[in-house]
Amino acid sequence: MPDVAVIGGGIAGCAAAALLAEAGASVTLYEREEIAAGASGRNSGVLQHPMDPATVPLYEASLELYAGLEHGFAFPAEASGLLVVDSDAPALAAERDATAAEFPELAPEWLEGADVQAAEPALAGDVCAYRLDTGRPVPPRSATRAWAERARAAGARIEIGATATVAPGEGVSVGGRVHGADAVVVAAGPWTGAALGSTTWRAVGPLWGVVAQVRLAQPPRHSIEQAGVDTLTSPGAPDSLFSIVTADGASAVGSTFTPLEPDAAALAPVLLERGARYVPALEDARIEHVRACARPRSFDGRPLLGPMPGLDGVHLITGHGPWGISLGPGSAQAVVEGVLGGGAAIAPELATARFGAP
Ligand SMILES: Cc1cc2nc3c(=O)[nH]c(=O)nc-3n(C[C@H](O)[C@H](O)[C@H](O)COP(=O)(O)OP(=O)(O)OC[C@H]3O[C@@H](n4cnc5c(N)ncnc54)[C@H](O)[C@@H]3O)c2cc1C
Repeated sequence: MPDVAVIGGGIAGCAAAALLAEAGASVTLYEREEIAAGASGRNSGVLQHPMDPATVPLYEASLELYAGLEHGFAFPAEASGLLVVDSDAPALAAERDATAAEFPELAPEWLEGADVQAAEPALAGDVCAYRLDTGRPVPPRSATRAWAERARAAGARIEIGATATVAPGEGVSVGGRVHGADAVVVAAGPWTGAALGSTTWRAVGPLWGVVAQVRLAQPPRHSIEQAGVDTLTSPGAPDSLFSIVTADGASAVGSTFTPLEPDAAALAPVLLERGARYVPALEDARIEHVRACARPRSFDGRPLLGPMPGLDGVHLITGHGPWGISLGPGSAQAVVEGVLGGGAAIAPELATARFGAP
């Protein structure tokens, strides 16, 4: 069994450390701040079926892993449902039809008029919606913390406050000292290029998001999101889409999508104002907390998984963009199998190699 260094204590790194340690590898995870310091601790918190067929197997594997995660993680056994909303009925109906054709397992159900409020009393009366059979809300940090606990329980060492970079052919360098490892898993989110020791490799970069947390007297029963999430990684995508996810009584109202770090305090009231168009109770809601962080977005919107060309023994788990909590554990499992020398080959459209060497 190899000695493996993992860089990054987000969902991807913590899940990989746990699965590696449970398989018998000697694992050290290096995290420069704290567990879930990045997007893995500041997201909206919903486990949701992706809209890219290439990543559906990662989602299905993740759900299975979440169901058995334990270590303080409360897996919602039933999906609470996702309502995709818009004011433009013909455009939304066309989107529903396309979703029904591509993902019949989501059973898209069209709602309009009185049916909308019957399904979801929190919604405004003049909104159209379709309901998808997905969406398991969880408190934002809970999954990553549970994976970190599980990694510790399996014998992984977790070094906090340790900024690591790949030391090619040797292991990792931390504070100028090299720590030997047979393999290195880089799961450093939007900072993956720097952790690889490269200033030019930009296959993954930041897509910043702001979320405002509120408590509503009668929060929505469903997760709700404005139509258009599938366009977010395309050129010309909107820089903000309404979403609301409620877990443990706290509703996360989001979210922005910008390459540059936003002014989170200024944007939070704007998110509520836009959201009130769909969920009127947001108009009077008091902001309890604002979260901002960067999603690791790849150039083609898909994860980068597996061996890094030109760097022997270095494997990546990154690039999940808005889907990392939903897909991260499945991705970690696929990469861990490769690190240990087994498992199925990673699909070419998800393989790190498609972007070349750093
Ligand atoms: C507003 C918002 C809402 C979201 N909502 C959802 C959602 O509802 N559902 C969903 O599935 N996804 C959601 N996401 C996306 C999801 O949060 C991310 O895709 C996921 O958390 C990325 O995880 P990661 O482990 O790859 O990276 P990160 O969480 O960024 O973790 C990387 C870690 O590496 C550490 N690090 C970086 N460089 C180094 C280094 N050199 N040495 C040591 N440590 C280092 C960082 O400190 C960080 O802790 C959302 C994201 C945002 C921003």
